[in-house]
Amino acid sequence: MGLLSGKRLLITGVLTDASLAFSVARLAGAEGAELILTGAGRGLRLTERTARKLDPTPEVLELDVTQPDQITALREALAERWGSVDGALHAIGFAPQVCLGGDFMAAGWEDVSVSLEVSAYSLKALADAVTPLMDAGGSLVALDFDATVAWPVYDWMGVSKAALESVARYLARDLGPRGIRVNLVAAGPVRTMAARSIPGFEAFEEAWTQRAPLGWDVNDADPVARACVLLLSDWLGATTGEILHVDGGYHAMGA
Ligand code: NAP
Repeated sequence: MGLLSGKRLLITGVLTDASLAFSVARLAGAEGAELILTGAGRGLRLTERTARKLDPTPEVLELDVTQPDQITALREALAERWGSVDGALHAIGFAPQVCLGGDFMAAGWEDVSVSLEVSAYSLKALADAVTPLMDAGGSLVALDFDATVAWPVYDWMGVSKAALESVARYLARDLGPRGIRVNLVAAGPVRTMAARSIPGFEAFEEAWTQRAPLGWDVNDADPVARACVLLLSDWLGATTGEILHVDGGYHAMGA
């Protein structure tokens, strides 16, 4: 019997097999979960192709988190397919190019607002889709990048992650009485499509390799996936509003 036997999970953010969410989906399936994936906009076809690398191939539904009608349609589709949902993975992040790269002053509100909406507010939007179907409690897990400090090049995405951390705490406050837990996994750098779109991402890779006491492999998403699966399971039933660092210990080290 797997850690997630009998669980019905919604997994966002599977774009390619390098996506953090793909590793979570693969492991969650191996641990007995039934899955539905979501894909967004032009990436939907790519998500469908990537889904075929999972066994069994999960259904893929459309979800662009900035489209309220798609949130409603997703909730209705999940209600029809499953009736209830046990958990969801939020693996969604995007910032317009001007929001990243080291010129913090270059971005205006029009671009910053996109970053905040897609990367932080979207956790609340996803909660709108799934929590009405969590009558028996549930678990929301989102992927974070430690937002307690200012990083090189990460800029407004860092601000968006700080907002995501706060959104998660407020959701934990409001959903806790219904038995719904909300937690984040703050991952170290892993080579994915989103990571490659950050100019200067190699600087993170180098820093992590040198400083993480446990070492860090930028090509291995499995430790991150294991933490997400654990949080989606019943094993951490008294944990909410938490940020679990899966970064080789980097966050705990001084310079
Ligand atoms: P990824 O494979 O590129 O996944 C990012 C996902 O976000 C894609 O599936 C993308 O779909 C989706 N997305 C973007 N805009 C969206 C929208 N409006 N609606 C719905 N989905 C949307 O990269 P990843 O690194 O695995 O990223 C997953 C999460 O992990 C992100 O929150 C990221 O910040 C976080 N994270 C990553 C790292 C890392 O080093 N890779 C470290 C810590 C945290 P489309 O491309 O189709 O829009």
